Amino acid sequence: MATTDDSFNGMTEHCTECDLDTLHEVSVQIRTESLKKENAQFSREPYRVAECQQCGNRSSQRMNNA
Ligand SMILES: [Zn+2]
Repeated sequence: MATTDDSFNGMTEHCTECDLDTLHEVSVQIRTESLKKENAQFSREPYRVAECQQCGNRSSQRMNNA
């Protein structure tokens, strides 16, 4: 019987470090990244960051899959 704590933004995901499905704390970060030189503008991209609660390994992926 799993207990759910809605106040904790956690998800069970596979951790490549643990090689297990572990609890991850998920958050969204806005990162400013520079594009190639041809485009001098900076773009701000939302990243989804998941931190393994077992080993602390963080993985992030860009949310815009344009
Ligand atoms: Zn882990």
